Amino acid sequence: MRRMDDLVVVGAGPYGLSIAAHAAAAGLGVRLLGRPMASWRDHMPVGMYLKSEPWSSNLSAPEGRYTLADYCATRGLSAEHGTPLPIGTFSAYGMWFARRAAPQVEEATVTEVTPQGGGFLVRTAEGPPLLARTVALAVGVMPFVHHPPALRELPPGHYSHSSGHRDLTRFAGREVAVLGAGQAALETATLLAEAGARPCLVARRSRLNWNTVPQPLSRPPLRALREPHSGLGTGWRSWAWSELPWAVRRLPAPTRERIAATALGPAGAWWLRDRFERRVPALLGHHLHRAVAVGERTRLGLTTRSGESVVLDAAHVIAATGFTPDLERLGLLDAGLRASLATVGDGRTPELSPRFESSWPGLFFAGLLTAPSFGPSMRFVHGAGFTAGRLVAGVRKRLGARGPLPDVTGDARHDRAAAGHPKTYLR
Ligand SMILES: Cc1cc2nc3c(=O)[nH]c(=O)nc-3n(C[C@H](O)[C@H](O)[C@H](O)COP(=O)(O)OP(=O)(O)OC[C@H]3O[C@@H](n4cnc5c(N)ncnc54)[C@H](O)[C@@H]3O)c2cc1C
Repeated sequence: MRRMDDLVVVGAGPYGLSIAAHAAAAGLGVRLLGRPMASWRDHMPVGMYLKSEPWSSNLSAPEGRYTLADYCATRGLSAEHGTPLPIGTFSAYGMWFARRAAPQVEEATVTEVTPQGGGFLVRTAEGPPLLARTVALAVGVMPFVHHPPALRELPPGHYSHSSGHRDLTRFAGREVAVLGAGQAALETATLLAEAGARPCLVARRSRLNWNTVPQPLSRPPLRALREPHSGLGTGWRSWAWSELPWAVRRLPAPTRERIAATALGPAGAWWLRDRFERRVPALLGHHLHRAVAVGERTRLGLTTRSGESVVLDAAHVIAATGFTPDLERLGLLDAGLRASLATVGDGRTPELSPRFESSWPGLFFAGLLTAPSFGPSMRFVHGAGFTAGRLVAGVRKRLGARGPLPDVTGDARHDRAAAGHPKTYLR
C-alpha cells in the first residue's frame, strides 16, 4: 500500500518554506514540493531591491530562528533598517533557510490535487503521485498574473508581463511602454532606462505615490505612539493590517474584500524616486483602451481624463499590472472541489477558518489567496510567520480529529459541488 503523508505543501516560496519548517518541527510527516524561491529567482529582474524593510522580511521557523539577519551575519552582509536589500540577497536567504529549516524540497510541479480516500491525491509532472491526509496550497503569485484585456490579443513578442523578465538588458536601445503605477512598474521602467532602453510609463492615475524615507526605529515615545512601526509600514492603520490578521478575519466579508483590494495601494519606494524621475518620462492619467501590432511595433490607443485620444508607438509593452487572486485560475485543484469551496464575497478566494483551513476538510491555503480572509499582510513576506504557526496548528487539529471523513470520491464529490457552497464548516 502506498504511504500517506500527513501534509503535502505545494509551493516552496517564503510561505511554503515557513509552513514546512513549522510542520517538520511539530513532527509531522511533511513533503514540500516546488522550485524553492522560484518567484524571486526566476520572475524578478536582476537589480531589483526589496521594498519591505529587512526586519519585516523574515521567513518563519519555530522559536524565531533562521532570520534574514542571521543569514546576513553568516555572510558578512548587513540588513539594516532604511537600507534597501537586493532581491538576490533575499533569494539566497530563502535558499539558505530551505537547506537549514525546512525538510528537503522536492523540485516538482504539481499538476493536480484531487480528493481521494479521505485525503488527497497529488499528481506531479515529474514523478509518481503522492497521497496526503492534508494539503497546504502555497502557490504564491504566479498563477494569478493579471493581463490587461486590451493586450491579450497581441501576437507574442509584442507584449509581456513584468514577471516574465530576469534580464532587462535585451531591451537596450528600444522603446518600451511600461503599464502600471506600483513599485514593479516604477522599478522596471527605471531598470530599463538604466540598461539603455527608452521606457515610457503609462498609468491611469493622475499622480504617482511615493513612500517617504522611513523614520528611525528608535524615536521619542510620543512620536512612536502617534506613528508606530509595523511590518507593513508606519502608522496605526498599517500596524492593524500587519499585526492583527486574526482580527481582520472577523470583519464582514465585503469589508475584508475592500481592504485586501485597496489597502497599501500602488506606491514607489523612497529610494527609487530620484532614479525614476531623472530618467523615465510618464504619461499619467492615461487609460489604455486598445493595442494593435503594426509590423514589428505595437501601437497603444490611450485616452486622457478629458477624453483626448493619444497614440503611443513602442517596440514592446510590459504590463506591470500585478496579480489578481482567483480560485478559478487554480487549475491544479480538482474542479469539483474548487466549485464546492465556501468563498469570500464575490467568490474569487476561499473563506478560511482561523487556522487557514478551507471549507473542504484538510485543504489549507496560504499567501495571496488568503488576503481577503486575513488582510493585506498576506501579500507580503511579513504574513508568513502568522500563517505558518496557525496553519500547522490547523493541520495538527485536523489530523487529530480524524474520524469518519466525508466521502470525497466519485459522485459524492460532484454532488457536493452541485449543492453549492457549504458554508457551515468554518469555525
Ligand atoms: C516584483 C515584486 C517585488 C516584491 N517585493 C516584495 C517585498 O519587497 N517584500 C515583500 O514582503 N513582498 C514582496 N513581493 C510580494 C512577494 O511575492 C510575496 O511577499 C512572497 O513571495 C509571497 O510568498 P509565497 O510563498 O506566497 O509566494 P511565491 O514567492 O510566489 O512562491 C510560491 C512558490 O510556489 C511554487 N509553485 C507555484 N505553483 C506550483 C505548482 N503547481 N507546483 C509546485 N510549485 C508551485 C512557485 O514555484 C514558488 O516557488 C514582491 C512581489 C513582486 C512581484
